[in-house]
Amino acid sequence: MSSVRVRFAPSPTGPLHIGGVRTALYNYLFARKHKGTFILRIEDTDQVRYVPGAEEYIVESLGWFGLIPDEGPGFGGTYGPYRQSERKELYQSYASKLLESGHAYYSFDTPEELDQQREKDPTFKYDSHSRKILKNSLSLSPQETSDMLETSQHIAVRLKVEPGEKIEIHDQIRGTVIFDSTELDDKVILKADGMPTYHLANIVDDALMQITHVIRGEEWLSSTAHHMLLYRYLGYTPPAFAHLPLILKPSGQGKLSKRDGATFGFPVFPLTWHGEGEIFDGFREAGFLPEAVLNFLSLLGWNPGTEQELFSLSDLINAFSLDKIVKSGARFDFEKAKWFNQQYIIQTPDEVLAKIISAKVEKLYGFYSMEYLSGVCKHMKERVHVVDEIISSGRFFFEEVSSYDNETIIKKYKIENRVFFEKIALLIAQDVLTAEENVKSYILQESLKMGEILPVIRIAISGSMQGPDLFQSMQLLGGEKSSNRIISAIKKFDAVVASAK
Ligand code: GLU
Repeated sequence: MSSVRVRFAPSPTGPLHIGGVRTALYNYLFARKHKGTFILRIEDTDQVRYVPGAEEYIVESLGWFGLIPDEGPGFGGTYGPYRQSERKELYQSYASKLLESGHAYYSFDTPEELDQQREKDPTFKYDSHSRKILKNSLSLSPQETSDMLETSQHIAVRLKVEPGEKIEIHDQIRGTVIFDSTELDDKVILKADGMPTYHLANIVDDALMQITHVIRGEEWLSSTAHHMLLYRYLGYTPPAFAHLPLILKPSGQGKLSKRDGATFGFPVFPLTWHGEGEIFDGFREAGFLPEAVLNFLSLLGWNPGTEQELFSLSDLINAFSLDKIVKSGARFDFEKAKWFNQQYIIQTPDEVLAKIISAKVEKLYGFYSMEYLSGVCKHMKERVHVVDEIISSGRFFFEEVSSYDNETIIKKYKIENRVFFEKIALLIAQDVLTAEENVKSYILQESLKMGEILPVIRIAISGSMQGPDLFQSMQLLGGEKSSNRIISAIKKFDAVVASAK
C-alpha cells in the first residue's frame, strides 16, 4: 500500500445525495489508482442535524456500489474510532491547545444576543472587529471571564482569525485560490455542548488519520481558508486539496438539490429513503444497475479526454486522475443515466437480471422459475432502460393480455381470415419450436400476406406491435398458451372490427 490516504466524510444528516456518491467514487478511484487507502469517516458532531438511519443508509449505498472502505466504522482500521461522536474528548484537547496558544478564545454570547446583532446589521460577522464589543474572553477582564466560565450556559470556543492576511490554497483542480482573512469570521470550533464543529473535528481527524488528499465538493472550498489556519496553529502540514465541481440541475441552472428528484421525476439518491414524512426515490429501486450509475457519475465532472464513455470500475481506476476533473459544474442529464443503464443491462447476464426481477415478479404475478425469468430477460433486455421495464414491458409473459392495439387490428384484421388464424393457432399448439417455419409456409400456401397475418398474431400474443421476436416469445410462453391466446384474441378482434364498421 502506498502512503495515499483519502477519506469520504459524510455527515449523517439524511440520505446520501448522488453528489455525495460521486465524491465517494472519486475518492475510491484515487485511492485504488495509487494503491492507497479509502477511509469512511462519519462526521456526526452536529446533534441537531443528526438523522437516525442515515449512517446505515450511507454504508448500504456504498455496499450497493461496491465502494467498500478499507477503514471505517465497522470496517476496521487502526486510526479509529471513525465516528466523530466517539472522539469528543480528543477534540476538546485540541481546542484547549488552541486556547493556550492564543489562537482561540471563549465566547459567551447567547443566541438571542447574536440575533440582535444580526437584526441591527444583516452583514454582522463575529470577527476581529466585532469581537471587541461582544462577550468573550478577549473583551472581558480575567475575573469576568472566569465568572462566565463558571456560570454561562453558552460557552463556545472560537478561532481567533487575525485580519489582513492572504491565505493561499493550492487546489489541484482550481489552482491557487486566495482568501483575505479580513473577510473571515471567528468560527466556533467547540460548541456549548462540548462537541466540536465540523471545522475543528475535520482537520484534527484529517491530520490524525494521516489523510494525504482531501477530495470533496466545491461547497467546502470557502471553509478551507479556516482549515488552513487550524492546520498552521496546530502545527500540521495541510493535505492536498481537490474541490469537485457542482452537479447542476438538468437545465444547467443552479445546483441539483435533493428536492429536484420530485420536481423532475427522477431519482437523485442511490437508494429509496423513507424519512419522517418524506420519501425520496432511489436509483436502485428505479431499476438502475450500480455499475451504470457509477459510470454515469464518473463522467459528471471528470473528462477522460477521449471519446470513451463506457468504463467498468477497473477501467475507471486505470483512467482516473485529478487533473482531468473539470472546473465548471456538471449538468445532471437523466436521459444519459438511462442510456448508461441500458448499456449495462444489455451486458448483464440474463440469470443475473432474472435474480434482480424475481422478487418483484413474484409479488405481482406469483412464482416463476429462474429459467423462465432468464428467458424473459433475454428477450426483453435490449428494449429497456431500467430493469423494472423488463417486467412492465414484458408483462404479457406473466399475465393474459388485457388491452390490444385496436387501431392496428382495425387496419389488419379481416373477419374472413378467422379460419386461417384458427389453423395457425393449431400449428403453434402442435409444435411451438418449429412454429415459425410452419406458420410462414402455411401463410404462403394459402396465398395470404405476411403483413396481414403476423401483426395480428403479435398483437394477440403481446397486445402491441412493439416487443421481442414473436416466435421466440411464443416458445417461452409455450405452444398451448400461445395458441389459446390467439383463439381468445381473435374473438375479441371480430367484435372490434365489427363495431368499427
Ligand atoms: N462532513 C462534510 C460533509 O458532510 C465533509 C466535508 C469534507 O469532506 O471535508 O460533506
